Amino acid sequence: MTRRVDPNLLYELKEFGALGVEKCINCGNCTAICSLSKDDDRFPRHMIRMVQLGMKDELLGSKELWLCYNCGDCSETCPQQAEPANLMAAARCYAITNYAPLKIGNLFCKNPLLGGFLATVMVIFFSIFMYTERQTMAADQLKLFGFISYEFIHNAGLTAMILIGLISVVTIVTMMYRIARVNNLSVKNFFTGAHTNWLLALWDAVMVQSLGQKRYREECEAPENRRAWYFRKWFVHAATMWGFLGLLFATALNYFLDIIGVKATGAFVPLWYPTRLIGTLSGLLFMYGVSVLLYKRWKAVDKAHSFSRPSDWIFLILLWLSGVTGFIIEIALYLPGAPQWGYWMFIFHVAVSITLLLLLPFTKFAHAIYRIVALYIYALKPVAKQEPAPASAD
Ligand code: SF4
Ligand code: SF4
Repeated sequence: MTRRVDPNLLYELKEFGALGVEKCINCGNCTAICSLSKDDDRFPRHMIRMVQLGMKDELLGSKELWLCYNCGDCSETCPQQAEPANLMAAARCYAITNYAPLKIGNLFCKNPLLGGFLATVMVIFFSIFMYTERQTMAADQLKLFGFISYEFIHNAGLTAMILIGLISVVTIVTMMYRIARVNNLSVKNFFTGAHTNWLLALWDAVMVQSLGQKRYREECEAPENRRAWYFRKWFVHAATMWGFLGLLFATALNYFLDIIGVKATGAFVPLWYPTRLIGTLSGLLFMYGVSVLLYKRWKAVDKAHSFSRPSDWIFLILLWLSGVTGFIIEIALYLPGAPQWGYWMFIFHVAVSITLLLLLPFTKFAHAIYRIVALYIYALKPVAKQEPAPASAD
């Protein structure tokens, strides 16, 4: 692979919030302290060198970016206050922007006003749209969007979701292509040929590392991971993820039961009904995780939470809003007379959820995808090592 130097890389990363990186004297303390940095997967110093030397392709082709869990340990111990953990977070945001088409992520990673404004406009638009559309169908009122047919709305929604799915696939392929190129491999090396253990790698990436949080749980030695279990970083992160997946599962199960005609009889669905129970428990777990994460960023409790990008806030606020509105809807359902504000809350909840989904490839939400891909390639590492040696910034 031809090596290209981008002299603007350092300045670009600064726009993503990587402040202090120029203070680094390359002492290597951060890599030594990072309990997740092992063998050939050296970070964060390796990443810092890439940024200092303008090695843009190598930076964007680094799976190591996604092996870091932002514990902040390296920043706490850096003698130069070069904030290596913040550099890793900024580089991930930079990668999200560069993997996605048209660099739309720029809007959410660099500009707090524009990103926040766009997300707010989307939520307001979808809320008004659904409210007036429903009113139009129900009582011929408020025909703000009455000129649009129901079929068109349905097809537009479907097209938007398919488009987001396709964009997500493109971003994954882009990421894999970049990692393969930097390591003088081709993308098919990650699935075929000598890589007969790809199914095992997939299991490890999805079940063991992502759902089971094994590396974060067992190997990350950040001080916060030694606190009471419910305050540990890995648990707060896992609570958010498990809660989110539980809510998705409950929604899908509810939909499925509806289709096959199996559902609770009458208007009142008891709290112990399986989908309601799974949804409520998952929602509690989810709200706990997101609230703690928001609190830590708001209070900047440690180095890892001292620097936040607009994308971090937008992602967490949308998650929190979707969770809290879900609970308000549930409360309204159990109140006598099913109050009207419960319906408005439902519309707002759906609008927030649609916005969250549509922004997936462009905000911090995308890390959920990229981390799985990186962990998959990480699990393939022993086989990938049979190929030519990776690039080095040292
Ligand atoms: S970021 Fe800090 S700890 Fe890491 S190599 Fe640079 S100066 Fe040393
Ligand atoms: S933030 Fe934590 S996991 Fe990431 S590089 Fe620093 S010490 Fe390692």
